[in-house]
Amino acid sequence: MQNTAAPVITIDGPGGVGKGTVAHLLSKRLNWHVLDSGAIYRVVAFAAEKATISVDDCDGLLKLVNGLKPTFSTDNEGVMHVFLNKEDITARIRDPHIGTAASQLSVYPAIRTALLACQRQFCQPKGLVADGRDMGTVVFPDAQLKIFLDASPEARAIRRHRQLLQQAIDVTLKDVFAQIIERDERDRSRAVAPLRPAKDAVIIDTTLLSVDEVFAQVVLQWDLRQMQVLS
Ligand code: C5P
Repeated sequence: MQNTAAPVITIDGPGGVGKGTVAHLLSKRLNWHVLDSGAIYRVVAFAAEKATISVDDCDGLLKLVNGLKPTFSTDNEGVMHVFLNKEDITARIRDPHIGTAASQLSVYPAIRTALLACQRQFCQPKGLVADGRDMGTVVFPDAQLKIFLDASPEARAIRRHRQLLQQAIDVTLKDVFAQIIERDERDRSRAVAPLRPAKDAVIIDTTLLSVDEVFAQVVLQWDLRQMQVLS
């Protein structure tokens, strides 16, 4: 399952909670690989749109996934780039409508299973920081440290809205809030790999915390975990 030679830290949580930012900072600090698993679901949504396959067509999507050969590379800033047929689609998959489609197609168990190997191949020495919804519960159940970040939907909408404006994606705060509520509902209620903390996850409510404060708490949890291993 998981490459036992390489340790894994999982960072799960709902949309807009800041998982990506924390995962990125942590991977830079530890000099480990980083996996943005949401990007993998987004690639499928992007490719499905291009191939005019509906998110209701599970068989069509599965065929697409099995033939899909995305490649990934990390730039000097530690940002994971996604390529499809040699085109860098990193920015294009950030569009909110791709996020919604990704959330719709991620409910199919067969698609989730088909994407497992692609996610697990990121687990390489020296280690991996993986962010998503089911990193600690399904993809890397043996992770050395599991973090679950949470925050109120309002706080998450404000953060996500700011992020999208920075990427020059023109959306209203009201629309972002509505999307967050809808996505939460779908991610939490799906039958397979629903969004929930692993039993052994450390839960951090980030509603009133800055990025630096969240990062400091995660680093502290990792240091504590290593002390436990030593003792
Ligand atoms: O995190 P991001 O917003 O990029 O993820 C897009 C969608 O992909 C999520 O709303 C979720 O439904 C799905 N996803 C998932 N499992 C993951 C990561 C993302 O189901 N590990």
